[in-house]
Amino acid sequence: MLKGKSAVVTGSTSGIGLAIARALAKEGANVMINGFGEKDAIDKELAGIKQDFGVTAVYSAADMSKPDEIAAMIATAQADLGSVDILVNNAGIQYVSPIEDFPVEKWDAIIAINLSSAFHTIRAAVPGMKAKGWGRIIQTASAHSLVASPFKSAYVAAKHGIAGLTKTVALELAQHKITSNCISPGYVWTPLVEKQIPDTMAARHLTKEQVIHDVLLAAQPTKQFVTVEQVAALALFLCSDAASEITGANIPIDGGWTAE
Ligand code: NAD
Repeated sequence: MLKGKSAVVTGSTSGIGLAIARALAKEGANVMINGFGEKDAIDKELAGIKQDFGVTAVYSAADMSKPDEIAAMIATAQADLGSVDILVNNAGIQYVSPIEDFPVEKWDAIIAINLSSAFHTIRAAVPGMKAKGWGRIIQTASAHSLVASPFKSAYVAAKHGIAGLTKTVALELAQHKITSNCISPGYVWTPLVEKQIPDTMAARHLTKEQVIHDVLLAAQPTKQFVTVEQVAALALFLCSDAASEITGANIPIDGGWTAE
């Protein structure tokens, strides 16, 4: 389905981003992965993508809080992969604190990585997409782009912001065969979430099952985690011809969280 296309997926050395990069590669897209991690682990992921799917896979270490590194990443992808047809803005971090104690540098980092990085990637990638007359821009937003939770001021602000950016970009590009959409997951089973469980068990004197059902999944009516493969399948659908009239949408994949 995506043979001859090239994709950049930010924050794809683990979790949702890696699953999206692999899903796009499985359909024939060449991919640039990005994010932090051990060199050996990243080399292994790149080799796995090349071997499993027979596509070109390259890595950029660009820091999504640095506009000049972001511009260089898109230029390198255009040079090394030939084009950037699919752009997935997925990199994200979290910090949890009451607003009066929220460290200013954490606010700045979350706004930079979770929101401003998408502005920088999109502005750099759009001229190439316009020239080719085809493009797919996808943001991994969050249920927190639609509803808030206490103590997550920066994350909720950034995710609401990216939903607005997504809609604006959709309108600007509507007649260029370039779509722009958000995917908004609820809790997704990633290493990030899994690592929180032992500490929460100890802090609250709960079993693993209680932490999962009563703490993590308290807001999620299905009481199930979303899987990274489910998020990746939705991203892949948004890249298909069947999704060409879906633009400016914010699609929840949250077990019913935002229906409440
Ligand atoms: P993760 O921690 O597994 O992955 C985050 C990725 O971003 C990693 O590859 C990391 O190296 C990269 N990253 C972090 N800071 C970066 C920076 N400055 N520059 C470049 N890359 C950077 O987390 P995940 O759960 O897969 O999250 C991916 C996205 O999904 C995020 O935007 C997150 O907000 C969103 N999301 C996650 C969940 C969830 O429950 N896991 C739910 C809703 C939305």
